[in-house]
Amino acid sequence: MRDLTSLQKQINSVCELKYNEPMSNHTSFRIGGEAEVMAFPKNTDELADILKRASALGVKPRILGAGTNVLAPDAPLEGIVICLKDCLDGMQLLADDRICVMAGVTMTRAALFAAKHGLSGLEFAHGIPGTVGGGVYMNAGAYGGEICQVFEIAVVMQPDGSLRNVSRSDMQFSYRHSILEQTGDIVVCTVFQLKKTSAEEIKAKMKELMAKRSASQPLDLPSAGSAFKRPVGGYAAALIDEAGLKGYQVGGAAISTKHAGFAVNLGGATSEDVKTLLKNVSDIVYERSGIRLEPEVRIW
Ligand SMILES: Cc1cc2nc3c(=O)[nH]c(=O)nc-3n(C[C@H](O)[C@H](O)[C@H](O)COP(=O)(O)OP(=O)(O)OC[C@H]3O[C@@H](n4cnc5c(N)ncnc54)[C@H](O)[C@@H]3O)c2cc1C
Repeated sequence: MRDLTSLQKQINSVCELKYNEPMSNHTSFRIGGEAEVMAFPKNTDELADILKRASALGVKPRILGAGTNVLAPDAPLEGIVICLKDCLDGMQLLADDRICVMAGVTMTRAALFAAKHGLSGLEFAHGIPGTVGGGVYMNAGAYGGEICQVFEIAVVMQPDGSLRNVSRSDMQFSYRHSILEQTGDIVVCTVFQLKKTSAEEIKAKMKELMAKRSASQPLDLPSAGSAFKRPVGGYAAALIDEAGLKGYQVGGAAISTKHAGFAVNLGGATSEDVKTLLKNVSDIVYERSGIRLEPEVRIW
């Protein structure tokens, strides 16, 4: 705590800080108590400065992108949260078939940028509400596409503020997982390798996938997308539906009646409501099917 006070004093002049900032304002679930300190660096220099000072004091910051896959606690969150959503902005066409995207850009913007240049491969990402940094960390995917399929290389910032390149093999991607979970490195920018295709074809595909999303997902209610990872040998939504759990409610949290894979905030849900809901659903499905569902959402 003493170290955090010292860090606050040091980084006050480095970037914008907010104290006792409600996490509910920064998560798509609209859930979460106050973060003791939230930092909003504007560029990589400011980010590096914060990390260097934090590392020297032994403080380990938490990294937040768009907060679309995070369940924040109800209790005050001690320490420092670094919010990258409105930082690290920008995209560039590198060659005929490659784009470089800064980590704070949303996946949808990246997909639209690729489409504008007639580059196919990111259509699946159009409609995923997170940032590219969060998407790379999570190896986000949808409708048969996954970040790892188009990822070529990324520049990451290590916890001491230094930069290094990571290749696709370094990333050790697997289903909704990358090595960043272990290293704590922060994605700064990513190069995607795509395929030249007609912009019309790409846009038509994105439109088709967006229509599927709107038709099947409860986009009118706060959520963090799929609540559970896809288990081996099945689909979480189907298992939950078969267990009769659509609409199952704990406090203000419920399994969506539109899509059984989504946990939604009906209004006033707490983090504890969501955690209990996920645990109960996982237990009921396990008793019925022998398949254990694991949360996809990152529980802070
Ligand atoms: C309506 C809805 C639909 C969704 N649909 C999909 C879908 O189809 N497919 C899918 O995969 N996901 C989906 N999601 C979940 C979510 O959008 C993705 O997981 C997304 O990649 C998270 O990005 P984020 O920026 O919001 O990350 P956050 O939620 O802010 O963070 C998630 C994790 O990534 C880490 N992180 C964030 N930024 C960085 C960075 N720059 N460097 C290192 N680590 C970082 C955080 O520390 C945290 O551990 C959906 C969510 C919603 C609400």
